[in-house]
Amino acid sequence: MSSGVPQVMCIGQARMTAGLDRMDRIDLASHYQVFGSLPRLTASQLVDMAEQVDLRGRGGAAFPFGRKMKAVLESRRKRKRKAVVLVNAAEGEPGSAKDQMLLLRSPYLVLGGALIAARALQAEEIVVGVSNPDAAGSVVSAALAEPDLGRLVRVVQVPDRFVTGEAGALANALNGKPPLPPGRKILASDFGVGGQPTLLSNAETYAQIAVLAMLGPEGFASTGTADEPGTYLLTVGGSVERPAVVEVPAGLPLGEVLDLCLAAPWEGVLVGGYHGMWLPTETAYTVPVSRAGLASAGGVLGAGVVLPLGEGTCPLGEVARVARYLASESSGQCGPCKQGLPGIARALAELADGSGGVDALDTARHTAAAVRGRGACAHPDGVFRLVLSAVDVFTDDLTAHLSRGTCGRPVQGILPLPAEEGQTRLSVDWTRCRGHGLCAHLVPELVQVDREGYPVFLDMPVPGWLAHEAQQAVQMCPSLALRLITGAPAPAPRPPAKAKLAVKKGSNLKLVASKRSESDLSDLDVNEEWIADLSDIGRQIPRPLT
Ligand code: SF4
Repeated sequence: MSSGVPQVMCIGQARMTAGLDRMDRIDLASHYQVFGSLPRLTASQLVDMAEQVDLRGRGGAAFPFGRKMKAVLESRRKRKRKAVVLVNAAEGEPGSAKDQMLLLRSPYLVLGGALIAARALQAEEIVVGVSNPDAAGSVVSAALAEPDLGRLVRVVQVPDRFVTGEAGALANALNGKPPLPPGRKILASDFGVGGQPTLLSNAETYAQIAVLAMLGPEGFASTGTADEPGTYLLTVGGSVERPAVVEVPAGLPLGEVLDLCLAAPWEGVLVGGYHGMWLPTETAYTVPVSRAGLASAGGVLGAGVVLPLGEGTCPLGEVARVARYLASESSGQCGPCKQGLPGIARALAELADGSGGVDALDTARHTAAAVRGRGACAHPDGVFRLVLSAVDVFTDDLTAHLSRGTCGRPVQGILPLPAEEGQTRLSVDWTRCRGHGLCAHLVPELVQVDREGYPVFLDMPVPGWLAHEAQQAVQMCPSLALRLITGAPAPAPRPPAKAKLAVKKGSNLKLVASKRSESDLSDLDVNEEWIADLSDIGRQIPRPLT
């Protein structure tokens, strides 16, 4: 997802990164020199090899590749339809660059693995779903230079969003539907591209298949651990002097990678990306780079993203930025995402800026626990892991925020996030706002009211799934104070002195404009029924999670 690809480094035997120490991009002739020619494998040979080394997907879910192959073979047999091979190179995780790196610099390794699988499945098409336009161009030119690939490969550029890499979302994108996870479980092996049985795996996974086919299971297992043979590609960023994609043998202590990248972590290191876990720094230095090793320390390998966080930035503020991004990137299709994620983001923002205290911590914890296991895809579970592990690891920082309101460090924006160019946000003209809170009834995910009734905005762009509600709130703001603006908001001035609010017993609120409000706006009689009626026009107000 990030536009630039960092440098490539390797510890131990280079496989995914072979040849990249001396070539910027490995063309077809150089690929044959470095890797040799591709063997042809039958489906059963490929399944057998993958099972011998327990080859797992490298996109984050670590699903056994052999089982995927078997599921596609079974579906192809039952449905009597041709299989498709789909390369998932959407790489929506902002901290990940390994798939882009492979497609840009060693495209034949990925395409070679896809070709082995396509031949084994007698598939007539290899589809590459990719979000980075440069990587898409690299694949196209690589495929055109090799006749077999030129005949089979179709490259499709997919939207650059966090959830696009989810298997169902990618299949939707390729089938002309919105690039969002489907609300129900649909297996790509049954109904993937064009409704055909589809072998869907991550770009690095196909590169691993190519290496496995060329080395054989024994050669493949000559590095790594007995349970997890081979190498992993890590993308290391955050507080490092040398951000890099690093190839390491499974089982290597993560500390060696952190040292190689000149990392300077303070309290914690995020492993597994934004659906991953924070590890205390001392644990991160000793934990082995493997699924089992990270799991034993309470972490996850995910797609191999490693983000140490240094001393100069506020960890809670950094996590709050990411939580806000994850809330805005949700597809907003199910309750946990629609109601829970904005609540988590708001609570973390309040903890970070010192306005929330223990209540905000409680809300963050409880809401994160409430969304767990309740989404249509793994997005809420990922947010749960990120937030709860941050609260566990950054205890010193949390204590400082709870006791003093701040840790005294600025939020430097060390954790990578995509630019928000062109996205819209809600903003308010305080000279007009009368503070009766209709906007908070209409878009409670983005707006809440403070103790005086003035709107408090969640600092994030309006996600697509709330665009209609946000527009409606703007149109219905009785004081014409609410706006949709493009880009970052101007620093918010204080709201005007509170309008006098005469509360009648029962349902009626009498709102009288303050002296500082613009005189051209007439005073408004606002009652709760009226607000509720307006709120119900476009939507049901979601109940808060308990
Ligand atoms: S609806 Fe308009 S005037 Fe009322 S609180 Fe919201 S922004 Fe202010």
